[in-house]
Amino acid sequence: MSQSLKRMPPLPTKRLPYGRQLVEPDDIEAVVKVLRSDWLTTGPSVDAFEKAVAQYVGAQHGVAVSSGTAALHAAMYALGLGPGDEVIVPPMTFAATANAAVFMGATPVFADVDAGTLLIDPNAVSRKISTRTKAIMAVDYAGQPCDYEALRPIAEEHGIALLADGCHAIGGTADGRRVGSIADMTAFSFHPVKHITTGEGGMVTTNDDALARRMRTFRNHGITSDHRQRSEQGSWFYEMVDLGFNYRITDFQCALGLSQLKKLDAWVARRQEIARQYDAAFAGTPVSGLKKREGVSHAYHLYVIKVPGNRQAVFTRLREAGIGANVHYIPVHLHPFYRQRFGYGPGLCPVAEAAYEQILSLPMYPAMTDEDVDYAAACVLEAVGAN
Ligand SMILES: *Cc1c(COP(=O)(O)O)cnc(C)c1O
Repeated sequence: MSQSLKRMPPLPTKRLPYGRQLVEPDDIEAVVKVLRSDWLTTGPSVDAFEKAVAQYVGAQHGVAVSSGTAALHAAMYALGLGPGDEVIVPPMTFAATANAAVFMGATPVFADVDAGTLLIDPNAVSRKISTRTKAIMAVDYAGQPCDYEALRPIAEEHGIALLADGCHAIGGTADGRRVGSIADMTAFSFHPVKHITTGEGGMVTTNDDALARRMRTFRNHGITSDHRQRSEQGSWFYEMVDLGFNYRITDFQCALGLSQLKKLDAWVARRQEIARQYDAAFAGTPVSGLKKREGVSHAYHLYVIKVPGNRQAVFTRLREAGIGANVHYIPVHLHPFYRQRFGYGPGLCPVAEAAYEQILSLPMYPAMTDEDVDYAAACVLEAVGAN
């Protein structure tokens, strides 16, 4: 063992992943109750979860689906996108954000991010608008809401939709408005690493009645009525009006989501506390965090740092110490699929590409203790050779 490894703080008995769900006895009870009921899918718990999330974020409608990816796909479908259409997306995101445009035959056009926040840069968006642009898909990276005050006028000037991938940011606010009520449609994910979970699951929130209706049809094979509506009407007749998917979510998943939603505010507050503890630990060291925007409440899905020097070495040392550091994200345009299909590659988004070489996501989830956070921070500082 090297000298520096011996200086590491003692290994914890548990490993610290970068994110982890918290499922408590009341969550389990809520799920079991629905498992004993008449409706396992397309039932009243789906409606209740949709209404609760919509009300929480301050939107008229919530359309629950089977994943965050399905939510992004539904939003793109609702806009009626097709071949020849372009959607502006940032490269610093999970591939699904851009993939959703490709599902519709449309072209994702990458606009670079701001170097301080790694959020989509409104100036870069303006430069990428063309006559084919149909939507801007902003991503509230790491949980920080984007600069919607700058993005909204761009969307309005060009008569295009402003969408949000809010998969990192439920519970966040910008200028007093909750994520989910700012863009025309906002997609959420309830994967276990996200703020609240349904196992797999997602939702789109919107104030637009027509868009919500289209998404409800889309998630159910393009059929205009669902099983419960027909059962209530005593009818067997239905019509398939468009090509949709089975993107439905189950009632027991929604029961878990409803139970988890009650805890969201407390969990976001805990994430913010953890972020403050990391901020304090890294103040005055060569490790820097990302810039925080004025007027936002950051939901901290991720705590992202930029490390000086050899990121791979730091990553390896952290993994050895039981710290599940991760990298979010490989810029999407650099993936082989995007290089081959669209001819994208290095140089397209230099800010994101440079940031990618330096970033690491540290453990961040509400069940972390103060000691866990201290340990993770101490390991980072040791690994970068700063203490
Ligand atoms: C998690 C995530 C998704 C995909 O959500 P799934 O529920 O895993 O399909 C999309 N975009 C971002 C930014 C995400 O973090």
